[in-house]
Amino acid sequence: MSQHISFVQREELKNKPSSDALGFGVHYTDHMFVMDYEEEQGWHDPRIIPYGPLTMDPAAMVFHYGQAIFEGLKAYTTPDGTVQLFRPDRNMKRFNQSCERLHIPTIDEDFLLNAIQQLLLKEKDWIPTEEGTSLYIRPYVFATEPFIGVRPSKQYKLLVILSPVGSYYGDQLSPVPIYVEEKYIRASVGGVGEVKTAGNYAASMKAQKEAEAKGYSQILWLDSKENKYVEEVGSMNIFFKINGEVVTPELSGSILNGVTRNSVIELLNYWGIPVREEKISIQEIFDAHARGELEEVFGAGTAVVISPVGELTWKDQTIQVNDKNIGPLSQRLYDTITGIQFGKTEDEFNWTVQVDEVRV
Ligand SMILES: *Cc1c(COP(=O)(O)O)cnc(C)c1O
Repeated sequence: MSQHISFVQREELKNKPSSDALGFGVHYTDHMFVMDYEEEQGWHDPRIIPYGPLTMDPAAMVFHYGQAIFEGLKAYTTPDGTVQLFRPDRNMKRFNQSCERLHIPTIDEDFLLNAIQQLLLKEKDWIPTEEGTSLYIRPYVFATEPFIGVRPSKQYKLLVILSPVGSYYGDQLSPVPIYVEEKYIRASVGGVGEVKTAGNYAASMKAQKEAEAKGYSQILWLDSKENKYVEEVGSMNIFFKINGEVVTPELSGSILNGVTRNSVIELLNYWGIPVREEKISIQEIFDAHARGELEEVFGAGTAVVISPVGELTWKDQTIQVNDKNIGPLSQRLYDTITGIQFGKTEDEFNWTVQVDEVRV
């Protein structure tokens, strides 16, 4: 796929937010990437145009049946001023896996990555440079055909928007309290839990709000069949360090195959720290704590990188992990992964991709 990407420059550029007040997903850049799909033409008309509202037919199928998928990755500025991405090939691949599961036409992965890089080059001034800040990249697709019969849409739109974001925690990692969900489930095997589709999030909002009302910042989901095995947390995968060994739920078909999750596993292997991907019950975690062997618990995802868990509540029991302190392994993983992402630690794994190298 070697289509030319057309460009329409915004007339009046926006004011950029100051880097100490970025938040997450609040501000958007001057331009966006858009592409359309029609059955007869395939994906066509790739363009970078001023960021702004879309016009949609009220019958557009996404509003009714929810064919919508997305990805999330970040662009980082390095100390020498270059811009880089972290393992973007994995996001492109997962983008297509999500498309396939929702019966949305896939897109050439190299083309999409190149389109993202071209957009980044146009929006380079929007990439924040303060410690810990980055430019969040959100590629997504949704069904646009005006039709309310139930079948896959024949028309789609693919967009990429960019948002400058702050560091999730400021300078310090802070352990969060987590609620083990008993009443609601997130996903079941054979469903869509292993892909990034909008509906997974829609289904989790009520449970998330109820947990927040009880004072927890996130939910830990259990499996849908036995309500027993640990799955994942909101938009993070989860890891437990028990008696010197790390364990994370295996890719069961109902959890997301996170890029951060995979990076953690590869780093642990490289460091010679035992790590296993397997079924793990919530009871085993509480038992390990009772034996004094639960050393660390942390989540892993692009937005937060590594998020230490300080407290877990399951039914009527609450346990504190590592006295609510950041564990040394959580800190080491956070420092190493962000070090590689921001070009401050040598990238021995070849995980980073320089944006400037891209042919435009
Ligand atoms: C995106 C996401 C993750 C984390 O994946 P990363 O590739 O590490 O960002 C974990 N769980 C869910 C449900 C997600 O949507």
